[in-house]
This record gives sequence, structure tokens and C-alpha cells, in this order.
Amino acid sequence: MSRRKIIAGNWKMNKTAAEGAKLVAEMKDACPAAACALAKLDKSIPEVMVFPPFTTIAAVQAGVKGLPVEVGAQNVHWAEEGAFTGEISAKMLVEMGVKIVIIGHSERRQYFGETDETVNKRLKAALAAGMRAIVCIGENLDEREQGVTEQVIERQVRGALADIPSEQLENIVLAYEPVWAIGTGKTATPEQAQEVHAFIRKLLEGMYCPHCSGDMRILYGGSMKPSNAEGLLAQPDIDGGLIGGAALKSGDFLALVMAAYKAK
Ligand code: PEP
Repeated sequence: MSRRKIIAGNWKMNKTAAEGAKLVAEMKDACPAAACALAKLDKSIPEVMVFPPFTTIAAVQAGVKGLPVEVGAQNVHWAEEGAFTGEISAKMLVEMGVKIVIIGHSERRQYFGETDETVNKRLKAALAAGMRAIVCIGENLDEREQGVTEQVIERQVRGALADIPSEQLENIVLAYEPVWAIGTGKTATPEQAQEVHAFIRKLLEGMYCPHCSGDMRILYGGSMKPSNAEGLLAQPDIDGGLIGGAALKSGDFLALVMAAYKAK
């Protein structure tokens, strides 16, 4: 089963509009126009995505014109509109031309009360609006040490995908992000990550069908950087990376795109 790799940069609460525009301008400088035009057509190169803060999206969209880079958002609310201070609706994002969102990042779960249920509601809203989503799952250090990683992952996957029909799976990417590896410099070993990715794929097979599970892209996230990407991306069930820190430097991010290209 050949799955196109994805390299996705989660900028978190980093980069003003001006700083974001500068970062993508650096990426553009590294990609000559002709190569970029070809890359847009070549489905064998990884899908490249960046997820800036909401207020930086427009500047980055303008900056990536001509680059094969999709600009997404870091969250979406489930309601169409209403009294939800600080939230953003799918309609607002779609109006801006955003076609993909991150949902259920562990920082949302940890600091902002995100639950499996709200992840599911946000995912349904994104899909209903015609968007794709990267849904994040992952155990924390306590859970890993207690040996309950698989139970936690199963609960999160089942919760996120509750009532989502198989026809919608092509619009969903999962990101396995062990919380203990996010922003800590500690990376899961390729074997540790592969073990969980294979577990997720098997779980999806039981929930849906072998073909649905075989087509689903599952990204790894957690201190992925150019120096450790090769081993992770070589694993049979790792289909790319969701990258935080290393996505904030154009050189590192492009090196990760190249690593995914080589691992295809
Ligand atoms: C993330 O924010 O999804 C992430 C994986 O961060 P980092 O690469 O910095 O660990």
C-alpha cells in the first residue's frame, strides 16, 4: 500500500504575520520556481503543510503562492457561530481558504480541557465544512510508564472517530504524538513509534476495513528533527511527521521534507 508522505509544521503560538512571511520567503528562496512548479504536480513528493497561528495565516498564504505548501489552522470549533469567546468556526476558516486543521493536539488537551468528545465534535464540524483534519493522539509519560499506552491510544482513536463513516477517512490523517516526546528533545525510538503506529493501523482495520486502514496516513510527532527523521520515516507504518520546534527554522523544515522524499 503506497501512502504519500506528509511533512506538517505546527507553529503553535509562534511567528507574527511578519515573522511567518519571512519564514516562508526563506523556503521560497530555497525552491527555484521551476522546481516548485514541478513539485506541485509530482504526487511522489511529500505533501507539505504549515499551521501558523490564526492571525498569521493570511500572510503565510500570500507568501507560499507558487510553493507546493498548504496552509492550515491549529484548531476549529464545532459550532457554526455563537458565544464561544476565543474560538474560531469552520466557516471562518473556509472563507479564508483554509482546507485543513489540526484537532486535539496534546497542548489543547493538557491546557485547554480538550477531551475525546470535543475532538470528535471538532472533527465532525471540520469534515462537514469540507475540510481535512490532522487528529492528534498520544499517551503521557505516566501512562507509558504504567504500560497503558495501547489502552489510551485505543480510547483516543475510538473517541475521535466516533460516528465517522469510512467514506470520510480519506479526509483524516492521524498523528501519533507521545506527549513525553513533544518539545522535550526526547524522541520515541523508531521501534517504539512503529509499535504504536502498527497498533493504530490494526485498530483501524477492526473499526473499519483492511483497505481503509491501509490507506490511512499516520504521522509521528515528538521532537522530530533532521538528525532523527531518517530512522523514523523508514518505518513501514510511519507516513510522515507533525513537527513543532524544527518547523520554525526553514533549513530544518526543508531538510525534513527532503528526508521524507528520500524515504518515500
Ligand atoms: C508538535 O507540536 O506537534 C510537536 C511534535 O512538537 P515538537 O516537534 O517540538 O516536539
